[in-house]
Amino acid sequence: MAASGLCGSDFMLCQSGKSPLRNQKTFRPKKNAPSGSKGAQLQAHIDATLGSGNLREAVRLPPGEDINEWLAVNTVDFFNQVNILYGTLSEFCTPSNCPTMTAGPKYEYRWADGVTIKKPIEVSAPKYVEYLMDWIESQLDDERIFPQRLGAPFPPNFQDVVKTIFKRLFRVYAHIYHSHFQKIVSLKEEAHLNTCFKHFVLFTWEFRLIDKGELAPLHDLVESIL
Ligand SMILES: [Zn+2]
Repeated sequence: MAASGLCGSDFMLCQSGKSPLRNQKTFRPKKNAPSGSKGAQLQAHIDATLGSGNLREAVRLPPGEDINEWLAVNTVDFFNQVNILYGTLSEFCTPSNCPTMTAGPKYEYRWADGVTIKKPIEVSAPKYVEYLMDWIESQLDDERIFPQRLGAPFPPNFQDVVKTIFKRLFRVYAHIYHSHFQKIVSLKEEAHLNTCFKHFVLFTWEFRLIDKGELAPLHDLVESIL
């Protein structure tokens, strides 16, 4: 697949696992697409459409495909992208630099998973992201939620879980934009960040995965994308 033009290189950059980012150190291993060969096939479709440079086209459900399969493969892909992006910042996003998980002066997130931590706790941004990514990883690894076997049914609450995952991934983007954008610029990664975020926003919009209120910390950026 050939990327052409200025944007092409950014779109290429955004494919998880192929990012030539200077500082590519993920703080956890890359996840593979779920559902075996079907997942691999859908992943190939994502890579091909991203390579064509048309993000609006890339987010659409391919004709004849199952919506849940499509959501599952993309959820893993976006998790991997955020993992790589945040990984490049891990030496800068420290408990002393970021004692709380904020997204600008008006928004602060407190962590609760509703299971082991019911009452929201105030933690540093890196701790929050660690909780958040651990939680997502535990969902992706749970075969009752993300079946690995071809044709295995998705649970009735599957799309609710996916929505919660996207809501939480958005918070990492919001923190990166508000607290670490200058660092991203100095690492020359802003085009990559912007492309990944644009892809993320278009996907969540296409499938109505995040309530508008949740997007408030990056309202202007989201509006300009949509
Ligand atoms: Zn930070």
